Amino acid sequence: MTIGYLYLTRNRANNMAYVGQSSRLDAQNVQSYLGSGDLMLRAIDKFGTDSFHKEVLGYFDDQNSLDHAEILKIAELRNAGESLYNSGIGGPRAESALREAMFSRFGIIPRLTQQWLDIVANSSVEVKSLLASIEEPEPDDFYRELEAQLLMTQDLGSLCPRCNANVGEVCRTKTGNPSRNHARR
Ligand SMILES: [Zn+2]
Repeated sequence: MTIGYLYLTRNRANNMAYVGQSSRLDAQNVQSYLGSGDLMLRAIDKFGTDSFHKEVLGYFDDQNSLDHAEILKIAELRNAGESLYNSGIGGPRAESALREAMFSRFGIIPRLTQQWLDIVANSSVEVKSLLASIEEPEPDDFYRELEAQLLMTQDLGSLCPRCNANVGEVCRTKTGNPSRNHARR
């Protein structure tokens, strides 16, 4: 069963790109959701939605494969010298745990873009196994990284009528923890 898709949104005005994943598979979302994250939302605000072209790169049946595909696409674009609206390396909400696991296993850091790309592309089985093995982060880290991930994956282009989250801010539970978008946002 399809659990999500990978997409690339490009700004025709300056050729900057954004790579993201979404679990919202309804046609409306697939067609019109361009991405979020702080840089992306500000760019949409500045250039307008008409300036952006979104391309679906693939649909995936499991989260590990989707995460790996996202990390790989971002690695390819960075290594090609493209300017991205993505601030991170992509992949799971526990991004710092992934960086640590990649360094422990391969001695590699994302800034070495060619070596990072080579590992992600050529050792995909091992990288996926690292993705599968990453432990759940501690609660504080968990919510910090969850919020960072939600900023990239949720459509934050409108206010939330339920929790009053502002444009560009994630929804929050009654106890103040970040959450996925409430219904009808
Ligand atoms: Zn909300």
